[in-house]
Amino acid sequence: MVKYISSNSPQYFAFNVWSIPSAKAVMDAASQLKCDIILQTSMKAFQQLDIEEFHAYVKSYSQKKKINTYLHLDHCRTLDWIHTAIEYGWDSVMIDASDKPLDENIRLTNEVADLAARKGVLVEAEVGQIRGQEDEISSVEAGIARMEDIDRFVKNTRIDMLAAAIGTVHGQYKGVPNLHYQMISEINEITDIPFVIHGGSGLSDEILSRLLSYRNVKKINISTEVKLAYKCGIEESICKNGVEKSGFDPLVINSQIHTSIQNMTTNKLRLLGRTS
Ligand SMILES: [Zn+2]
Repeated sequence: MVKYISSNSPQYFAFNVWSIPSAKAVMDAASQLKCDIILQTSMKAFQQLDIEEFHAYVKSYSQKKKINTYLHLDHCRTLDWIHTAIEYGWDSVMIDASDKPLDENIRLTNEVADLAARKGVLVEAEVGQIRGQEDEISSVEAGIARMEDIDRFVKNTRIDMLAAAIGTVHGQYKGVPNLHYQMISEINEITDIPFVIHGGSGLSDEILSRLLSYRNVKKINISTEVKLAYKCGIEESICKNGVEKSGFDPLVINSQIHTSIQNMTTNKLRLLGRTS
């Protein structure tokens, strides 16, 4: 079975979606550029969705659009939900035990790897917590993984994708992002496991292109910007059409949201240089 992410695979953007319409908007951008794509579900979205219906829709729509769409479970902390995602056909899962001591992280990650391997599902894991903006990191070190931990982690786990804190943050950046680019090369020297960038939202096109220039960077996660595009779509449609008018039409709002998410996605995917 060919792994969709490996040291030889193309690079991907992974977009967090929470519904069939948000998934459709991302897939429409991907199909226009003839680009394969990863759709991620946060735990919150995964728990609220009808996952059977969502999975069926995503797979049939991407088939219709002639692209490959992979479903990924983002930041999952419990084996039960990982098990559910595997059972319902998700292509990859992320076990996030990065808040636990390293040995415990390794143990849990391997438990997931065993579970996933039986179904050919790929596993992403994280070393050194990638902080959220709300954490208000007081020192640079607070959000940076230690190389010796990364080394020990990859040598003792069987994972397909590695996430590690290199200075990116979840949510929106305050000020200029301080990314430790040299860590990406250092990680590539110790392992050829594909590297995942979390907190891709809010990084400029220049920064994203620089990240993509590292051949071990195979997945860049975009979550906040999908939500912001959704918000923008609502705001624009209200601005243009007004909600007070007698002719208020939800379809206009839906269409504006769709366009807003599709455009944001297109702009990111163009950075992969796989436009046709
Ligand atoms: Zn993340």
